[in-house]
Amino acid sequence: QETSGSLYSTSPRSMALAAAAQRVAAEFEYSKEAVNRGVDAFITQMHEGLGKQGATMSQIPTYVTGVPNGTEKGLYMAVDLGGTNFRVCSIQLHGNSTFSLTQSKVPIPKDLMVAQTSHELFSFLAKQIQLFLKTHHGEHYNTHTERRASMAGFGGFREEEIFSLGFTFSFPVQQVGINKGTLIRWTKGFDIHDTVGKDVCALLQKEIDALGLPVRVSALVNDTVGTLMARSYTSPGKTRTLLGAIFGTGTNGAYVEKLSNITKLNTTAGSSSNYDKSTGEMIINTEWGSFDNQLSVLPDTPYDRDLDRESVNPGIQMFEKRISGMFLGEILRRAIVSLVQDPAVPLFHDDDSSRNDVHSTTQIDATSPLYKQWGLDTSFLSIAAGDSGLGLKATRQSLDNDYGVSAASAEDAEAVRLIAAAVGKRAARLSAVAIAAVVISTASLATGDKDDVVDIGVDGSLVEFYPNFEEYIREALREIPRIGPEGEKRIRIGIAKDGSGVGAALIALVADRAMKSAGA
Ligand code: BGC
Ligand code: MG
Repeated sequence: QETSGSLYSTSPRSMALAAAAQRVAAEFEYSKEAVNRGVDAFITQMHEGLGKQGATMSQIPTYVTGVPNGTEKGLYMAVDLGGTNFRVCSIQLHGNSTFSLTQSKVPIPKDLMVAQTSHELFSFLAKQIQLFLKTHHGEHYNTHTERRASMAGFGGFREEEIFSLGFTFSFPVQQVGINKGTLIRWTKGFDIHDTVGKDVCALLQKEIDALGLPVRVSALVNDTVGTLMARSYTSPGKTRTLLGAIFGTGTNGAYVEKLSNITKLNTTAGSSSNYDKSTGEMIINTEWGSFDNQLSVLPDTPYDRDLDRESVNPGIQMFEKRISGMFLGEILRRAIVSLVQDPAVPLFHDDDSSRNDVHSTTQIDATSPLYKQWGLDTSFLSIAAGDSGLGLKATRQSLDNDYGVSAASAEDAEAVRLIAAAVGKRAARLSAVAIAAVVISTASLATGDKDDVVDIGVDGSLVEFYPNFEEYIREALREIPRIGPEGEKRIRIGIAKDGSGVGAALIALVADRAMKSAGA
């Protein structure tokens, strides 16, 4: 009773606030027509990327030409440098579509993301690997091993003592072989100049060797490729997985492409001959985060423009900057601040003593994180957009506890909720553009019978935590005539939680086999 009255109040304040919130939310509307224009442009840019180096969408050949079928076996290590955390794990593949996984996870210290030298970041990673081995694999690892390694170098180990490690590196890499690739550019707020152009596997191996660890970096894997591999290993029945996609701190997708369509493989100098051509396919890492950097079809608001201008990488990753977790909170923050600073809009200030819901004055603290770049965490978006409680208690509580807004009214919270939902929904509809484009350009719905499913493995905080993210994706998919309600039903989307670890292990296995057969 106390708050529901104010939520539907027709006081002048209430109406002004609702009108302002609706106006801003409308700026994030992404229409059916725009979705369809987006799909066409996305397909065009996918083709461009398959044909040449340096296109907007990189379409990176991964040299992974087969997907697993669940029978793979063995013990492997994997590490994952994502946008937020560094994970170290060991994976026992049981060979029957199941696996067991031991893992540890640390947040990446913010100062290492923008360190002066690669050494600072990569030595930190190697230390985490050392700690993990000591904690979880004492049987393979003791100080005796370490000493022997530092005396004798890498050759001090017998082959069976060496752990093969798959390195999931969730940034754009020009891959030149299964365990070799140079960083094209950093994304997601990372910015370490001297890493660009270097082989990131070599950088990691060097720091591992400096600690004398019995670990060989045998595969370099993008997280989307790992997700695709993991989903293929675990997915039920004979269904093949088409796409692995991440909607987390960043966004990207990797899919199975016909070798004959990857025309740049024939013209690219270097390693184009050293891979198994027997499957006729290769996994392509799209790097779709940079789709339409030129903004020919992407929606654009003042908040998007300001966010980009003040980011560490203006003008690039424009698709990612409208979709992924690193950015959605910042978009919402900018939209909220524009209202707070508009004297005609009473957001977060109310001294109307006749208000019946709270008996104090709504007020935003001058030192609120809302006034700082990156000050609003994307998790708040999920709280607000998912808040259906009476009087939007959860949203008001978070505004009060985390964002210095005291005594926010239900109307304030409703304004914020409306905009948060609009930002999130636009992100989901944009995600549908990418998924649809991959499904359409590979003609995946055209082949097979009409009950066959197209399988997609996804991971990341947005798909996991943002309310109804998948439902919004599906709604948009139905609005695309070449998919439609029939096609949408055949698209199966499944979470491959932390799949990149298992995926990296699977690729390390493939790499090991290739190395051993080459050596034999
Ligand atoms: C990176 C991709 C990565 C994605 C998801 C993007 O910023 O460019 O390589 O797959 O984030 O982690
Ligand atoms: Mg990740």
